[in-house]
Amino acid sequence: MTSTTAVPATDPPGMQAGGSSGGTARERREAKVRRRRTIRTVVVAAVVVVLTVTGGGAAWYLTSEVGTLRAQSTTAKDLLTTSDRKVADEATRAALSAQISTVDQLLAQPFYTRFPTETVDARQPLAAASDAVRGSMVEFARNAVTTGRRGLAAADARGQKIFTATEGKGVADAIRSNLRSALDTSAAVDEATSDVVASENLAELEKAVLDMRTSISTLTVSTDALSEAQDAVTCPAPDQVWDPDSGVLPSSALVAIPWAPKHFVRADVLDGLVELDAAYQQAFGEHLTINSAYRTLVEQKALYDPASATAAAPGCSTHGLGLAVDIGGGVQAFGTEQYNWLKANASTYGWAHPTWAEPNGRVPEPWHWQSVLAPANAA
Ligand SMILES: [Zn+2]
Repeated sequence: MTSTTAVPATDPPGMQAGGSSGGTARERREAKVRRRRTIRTVVVAAVVVVLTVTGGGAAWYLTSEVGTLRAQSTTAKDLLTTSDRKVADEATRAALSAQISTVDQLLAQPFYTRFPTETVDARQPLAAASDAVRGSMVEFARNAVTTGRRGLAAADARGQKIFTATEGKGVADAIRSNLRSALDTSAAVDEATSDVVASENLAELEKAVLDMRTSISTLTVSTDALSEAQDAVTCPAPDQVWDPDSGVLPSSALVAIPWAPKHFVRADVLDGLVELDAAYQQAFGEHLTINSAYRTLVEQKALYDPASATAAAPGCSTHGLGLAVDIGGGVQAFGTEQYNWLKANASTYGWAHPTWAEPNGRVPEPWHWQSVLAPANAA
């Protein structure tokens, strides 16, 4: 074929010479338009897809951040409630409360007035304030463990003392057994809680405090029960109180009366007695005549006669506590000038004539005077 040959009109379009770019000019234009339309559609679709995915993603992200912050705020509010009166430093709770308010205000705003980062930024200070409260609760609980251990030690010491002092003194075995088992439990609790003081675990610390309180309570109840039972056996008079310390005070607790140095009283009541004596001297020109003061258990045993009410049973006397003096020099008889003066003035200096020793009392004893610090029902 040559280019000079006439082209038959019947040749199909695609078979024409020089038709590599296809068809007529009109057909080529139409194809170009179709291609452009397709490209535009694809681009628009892609933009729509991208916008939808990123916009949705952003919306999802913001919603999830708000949800996280809301949940964190709820947890913080619970913490604020449970930490009531359980923190070492109350300021940590005030700070948490302030953070919760800030977050609540933020969450109450419409989303379009919030910067997307605000919800994220609010999380850290709230978490820090919550951690501070938790730390303060641990410190509080640890202090409670320390206090509890001291209380347990004191209750245990008192229990041991009463248990020892009541041995073979006529109280029913069952009552002593109760105290014995409370003491055993106390020793076990003491052992179990000795390492807990160093713990960072709040639940562990709080459990230790609870265990100790229970043990202290059981010890106190069983010690009181044994003490009262011993009181009933040893000191049946209602105005007397059995005291395991009676007649066995350490010499360090006692001081000699300056003008009657053979006689001793408890150190903390001497000053009042010295002042009372000074006033008595002003009135009568002489010292109070001290015939008896502190008595040891041995001395009280020697004085005690079950057939006579004059001397209290060993363990029941206020003399055994260093809180009583027997006074002569005129005071030993009701109605004398000296007795009446003491009756009118002793209370100014912390001393009194007990009801049981009054003329119509259980044992009328004008000479017996005692400190107001003596057991109340013996006064
Ligand atoms: Zn007396």
